[in-house]
Amino acid sequence: MPVRVLCAAAAFACLLSSCAGKPPSEGGSLKSAFAAGNATGPLQTKDDAKSPVALTPAAWGRMSNPRGLAGRDLTVTSLSDIKLRDKEVVLTFDDGPVPKKTERILATLDDFHVKATFLMVGEMAKAYPKIARQVVDAGHTIGSHTFRHADLRKLAVDEAIAEINRGRDAVRAATRTDANFFRFPYLSDSGTLRHWVAQNRMVVLDVQIDSKDYFGVSPAAVATRTMADLRRHGRGIILMHDIHNRTASMLPALLTQLKAEGYKVVSLRYGGQRGPLLSAAAAQDAAFNRS
Ligand SMILES: [Zn+2]
Repeated sequence: MPVRVLCAAAAFACLLSSCAGKPPSEGGSLKSAFAAGNATGPLQTKDDAKSPVALTPAAWGRMSNPRGLAGRDLTVTSLSDIKLRDKEVVLTFDDGPVPKKTERILATLDDFHVKATFLMVGEMAKAYPKIARQVVDAGHTIGSHTFRHADLRKLAVDEAIAEINRGRDAVRAATRTDANFFRFPYLSDSGTLRHWVAQNRMVVLDVQIDSKDYFGVSPAAVATRTMADLRRHGRGIILMHDIHNRTASMLPALLTQLKAEGYKVVSLRYGGQRGPLLSAAAAQDAAFNRS
């Protein structure tokens, strides 16, 4: 067995035997949370445990036997096509990409052999195109989330559309994909804008389970709350953000628990018409670049 795995296994045993230090503020442990028949206890993540040897996502993945969490590919052309069965979830990450955090999340998803959808903010994709491209290369699905994370309901319709277009263009340029999914920042939408998005070859992604990982709580609290909300719904699209360390920290525990409770991670794919469909500004740029 490689040394790294041995060290990780020792640290994991230490965690289980409560020798890793104080329990997280919410109480409970990974052992109690994962014990058979106890599916509702608080989750503990490696950052909460103050483990003497930090577990890598890979080590967590190996020890929790991650295979089997990946579910089916679901090809959709509109929101109404997203019909999840009981115990099916879609993982979504908004607001990135951002150095280190997005990469940590990619490593964990890879360890668990699952695919997610990343709704990128245009200016972030423009700032970090290499990371945006890494997300694509890892096989994840791409969407946009406006250019500057604007609250679109507070803008005039034409301004809101310009924000959406600019964001999508930036994500497309960085990822070299069509970026056919879209999420409204703050989930602040309107019937007019939803219709416009659907008419422009994008699928709006709503949210059933909000991890609320933007609150300043421990990683364990995020994972525990997300699982509790999911159990109430039984299925759904989970909203997370790849710009927070706590999200990257809690993800191995969340995915381990999802698998333990028999959930499957569904991978969304866009099945509609592809093609340039550039915004007016992007079409102008393209024409300029050709001339
Ligand atoms: Zn957002």
